[in-house]
Amino acid sequence: MSILPIKKEILDYYKSIPKCELHAHLNGSIRENTLRSLLKANGTTISGHIFDSYHNRTLSECFTLFDLIHKVTNSTEVISKITREMLEDFSAENCKHLEIRTTPRSLRDCTSEEYVDLIIDEIQNSHAVKSKQMNVSLVLSINRGSHDLNDALRVVEIATKKRIVSGIDFSGNPFKGKFADFLPAFQLARKKNLKTTLHFAEKMDPQESMKMLDFVPDRIGHANYLNTEIRERLLKMKIPLEICLSSNVATESVKSYQLHHLSCWVKNDYPVVICTDDLGIFRTSLSKEYAFAEQYTKIPRKLLTQIAKKSFQYKFPKLVLPKLH
Ligand SMILES: [Zn+2]
Repeated sequence: MSILPIKKEILDYYKSIPKCELHAHLNGSIRENTLRSLLKANGTTISGHIFDSYHNRTLSECFTLFDLIHKVTNSTEVISKITREMLEDFSAENCKHLEIRTTPRSLRDCTSEEYVDLIIDEIQNSHAVKSKQMNVSLVLSINRGSHDLNDALRVVEIATKKRIVSGIDFSGNPFKGKFADFLPAFQLARKKNLKTTLHFAEKMDPQESMKMLDFVPDRIGHANYLNTEIRERLLKMKIPLEICLSSNVATESVKSYQLHHLSCWVKNDYPVVICTDDLGIFRTSLSKEYAFAEQYTKIPRKLLTQIAKKSFQYKFPKLVLPKLH
C-alpha cells in the first residue's frame, strides 16, 4: 500500500466543493485515535508499525485492523461514539449527503435491532443533521461471510421498520458465500421498496458477477475484476458504480492510483461515485479521494467536479413507510 502525497491546493479545492458519500462502512470509518484508546482500554498491545504515521500499512496490517476494530466496537457506548465521530468527520469535509452502511449485530449490551436504533439516534441528534448541513441515511449490510439466509432476511426485516434506512448492501469476504444463496433477501428488499447495492467483482468470478447483474442492483461497488463480457454488459446497463481508490490500492486489488480503472469508466461516460470505503483503515478522506483522482489518474478537475455534482443523483431515497390506520 502506498499513500502518495497530495498537493495542498488540490486538496483544498476538493474540500471546498459539496460532495456526496455513498460507500462508507461505520466500523471501518473509526478514527485512528479512538481505535488506539479503545485498544489501550482493552489492554490490547499492537506490535510493529501499524500506527506509525510514516508507515504505509501492508495488506495484512489492514486486515489485522479490521479484526481489532470488530473486537473493540462491542458496546452501545462505543458504537454511539464512532457514529458521532463519523458524522463530524464527513460534515467537516463538506459532505452534504452521507450514506452510512453497517451490518446489524448484537453487542454485549444490546440486540441487533437496538444497534440500528442506536445509530439512528446519533444521526438524528447530530449537529450536522439538525442544522441541515448534511443529509444522512443508513444502508444495512448483509454479510456474505458470516450470515445465512435467515440472518439476511432479518436484516431486511429490520430495515423495513426504519424510515431512515434506504437500502441493503451485500458485503463481507468475497471468498465466502454466494449471491444466489441470498437472492430471496434481496428480492424481498426490492419488494419492500428498499434499494440495493452489491460489493461487486472483488475477485475474478464471472459466474457470480453475472448472477449479480441478472438481479439488476441499483448500485454496485468496486468492480475490480471484470472479463470482457461483464465489462460490456455493465457498459450497456450503466449501473452506478461506487469507486474506492485508496481501498482498492491498499488491498492490492488495483496496482496503483495511476492504473486505477476509474479513468476508463470516466472515458466511457459511465456513472461513477467517488467514495472512501473505510477511511479509518485507509487513512483517507472524501476530499483526499478526489484529490488522488486529479493528481494521479489525471482526470481533469472539471470532470471530477461534474462527478461530485452528479453523485447526488445516485443516492438512495429514504424509505417511505406505509401509513398506520
Ligand atoms: Zn465496502
